[in-house]
Amino acid sequence: MTKPTAPIEFGGDTVRPRWVSPNITHNGDVLLRELTAICPTSTHISDLAEHARDWWPLAMRWALQSQVPQLPLVVVSPRNTDEVQRVMSVCATHDMPVTVTAGRSGVSGASVPVFGGVVLNINELQGVVSVDRHSGVIEVLAGTFGPDLEREATKSGLTVGHFPQSFDISTVGGWVACLGAGQFSTRYGKISDMVVGLEVVLADGSVIRTGGAPAAAHGPNVTAMFIGSEGTLGIITRVWLRAHDIAPVRRKAAYFFPTFTAGMLAMRGALRADATPAVLRLYDAVESQRSHGGDGTNSTLIVLDDGEQEIVDATLAVVDRYALAHGATRTTEERVDHWLAHRNDTSGLQALTKKGFVIDTMEVAAPWSQMAAVYSGVCDTVMAVNGARGVSAHVSHSYLDGACIYFTLVGTTSSREINEASTDEHQALYLAIWNAGQRAALAAGGNLSHHHGVGLNRGRFMREAMGEAFEVLVAMKRTLDPHDLLNPGKLGFPTQRGPVPFA
Ligand SMILES: Cc1cc2nc3c(=O)[nH]c(=O)nc-3n(C[C@H](O)[C@H](O)[C@H](O)COP(=O)(O)OP(=O)(O)OC[C@H]3O[C@@H](n4cnc5c(N)ncnc54)[C@H](O)[C@@H]3O)c2cc1C
Repeated sequence: MTKPTAPIEFGGDTVRPRWVSPNITHNGDVLLRELTAICPTSTHISDLAEHARDWWPLAMRWALQSQVPQLPLVVVSPRNTDEVQRVMSVCATHDMPVTVTAGRSGVSGASVPVFGGVVLNINELQGVVSVDRHSGVIEVLAGTFGPDLEREATKSGLTVGHFPQSFDISTVGGWVACLGAGQFSTRYGKISDMVVGLEVVLADGSVIRTGGAPAAAHGPNVTAMFIGSEGTLGIITRVWLRAHDIAPVRRKAAYFFPTFTAGMLAMRGALRADATPAVLRLYDAVESQRSHGGDGTNSTLIVLDDGEQEIVDATLAVVDRYALAHGATRTTEERVDHWLAHRNDTSGLQALTKKGFVIDTMEVAAPWSQMAAVYSGVCDTVMAVNGARGVSAHVSHSYLDGACIYFTLVGTTSSREINEASTDEHQALYLAIWNAGQRAALAAGGNLSHHHGVGLNRGRFMREAMGEAFEVLVAMKRTLDPHDLLNPGKLGFPTQRGPVPFA
C-alpha cells in the first residue's frame, strides 16, 4: 500500500504554524471523543504537521524553518464511506471545517487546512473494488495511489492511462479533485475523460452516486461538478474509471526545431490532422539544452505513442510529415528513452529549495493562436521582476484547439541563508513572480490553470480569470456547503471564517 511522501524534511525539532490560529470556538474534548468513537484519530504533533502541508513550493520553504502553514486540531482516518459520512455529520454538528488530504502532492496548497479544524485523511480508503473487464471500467477507492491502481489494472490487461509526474505519490481521488492530466494525455485525455462516475459524501453527511454510463443526456453533468472541486463541494470516496486495453505496440521519435514557434506549428498541424500520440512534448531552447540534447538555440520535440500497430504507424507518420514541413531534423529516439527514465525525478526541485532559490512551475492552457503570445508575455513580464533569474517552458499536453504551456520560474533573494527575514523576502519575491506570470498569461489569452489547480496559491486570480462565471461556482458552493465546512478558504471562495492568506 503506497503512502504519501513528504516533499522536504523539517528544518528543526519544533514545528509551528506560520499563520495565527483562527478563533475556532468548540468543545474540543467532546469533538475528539465523538470522532475517536468512529475511526482512528491522531493529535500527535508529527501527524498534525505532516497533514498540514503539501508540495506547494512556498510551504516547502517554510518547512526549512520548521514551519507549516497551519496546524489542524486532529487527523481522522476513516476506513470506509460510512465512517466518512459519520465524521462529516459530527463535524457539521460542531461547525468544524474539514479538509481532505490524500497524497498531499498538490503544488498549490490545496490540502492545507487554512482554518485548522479536522483533516480527513482519505488514505485508508485504498484498493480496486471491482473490474468490469468486458466494458473496461474499474471501480476504485479514492485514496488509492497510482502504482496500486495500475498494478491491479494490468492483471486484467487494462490501463487507465493516467500517468502524472506525481504518479507514485498521488491518489485517484486527488487526480479527480484537482482535474489532473497525465503525461500520456494527448492519447488518453485528462482525468475528466476517464471518470465514469463517482461516490461522494456531501457536507451534510449524505452520500450520492453520479454517472455510471458511457454518456448521458439528463441535465447538466453532476459528475463534472465534483471534478476539479478540490475538496470544497464534497468528499470523493469511490471512483469508476474507464480503462483501455494494454497497447501491443510502442513507438518513439524525436526532432530538433530551429525555433520553439516552429515546433508549436508542427504540433498544431499534427493535432489538427487528428494525430494524437500519447506523448508530444516540445522544449524551448533553455530546457532543450538543459535536458534534451539541444545546442542552446534549438527546440526538442519528443514523441511516443502506444496502440495498435496501424494506428501508431499512421500517427507517427503524420507527426513526422508536419515536423519536417516546419524545418525539423530527426534526432535519435534515445532522447525519448532519456525522458522516460528521468521524467519523475524531482530531486532538483528539493535541492534548489534547500539552496534558497525561489522556484515554481506554472502551467496554463491556451488556444494555438495565442500560444506564442503567452510564451513571450510570461517570459518578458516575469524577467522584469526584480529578483527573477530565469524562465523556461515546454508544451506538455496538446489538444485539437490548443495546448498546455508549462513554465519553470526561478528567482533569487539578496541572501541564501535560511532565516525569518530571508524567508519573508523569499515569500515576497515568490508572490511577485506569480502575480506577474499569471497575469501575463491571462492577458495574453491563456487560462488560470491546466492541471495543477487553484488551491490557495491561485485563489486571488479566480475572479479575474473567470469573470461573472465565477459567481456560478460561488452559488454551487453555497448550495452544497451552506455552512462552509469543506476546505474553506480555497478556490478563491469567499468565507466568513476569517482572512485567507494571499487572497
Ligand atoms: C513532483 C510533482 C509532479 C506533479 N505532476 C503532476 C502532473 O503531471 N499532472 C497533474 O495533474 N498534477 C501533477 N502534480 C500535482 C498533484 O500531484 C496533483 O494535483 C494530484 O492530483 C494531487 O493528488 P493528491 O492525492 O496528492 O491530493 P492532495 O494533494 O492530498 O489534495 C489535493 C486537493 O484535492 C482534495 N482532495 C484529495 N482527495 C480528495 C477526495 N477524495 N475527495 C475530495 N477532495 C479531495 C484535497 O482536499 C486538496 O484540495 C504534481 C505534483 C508534484 C509534487
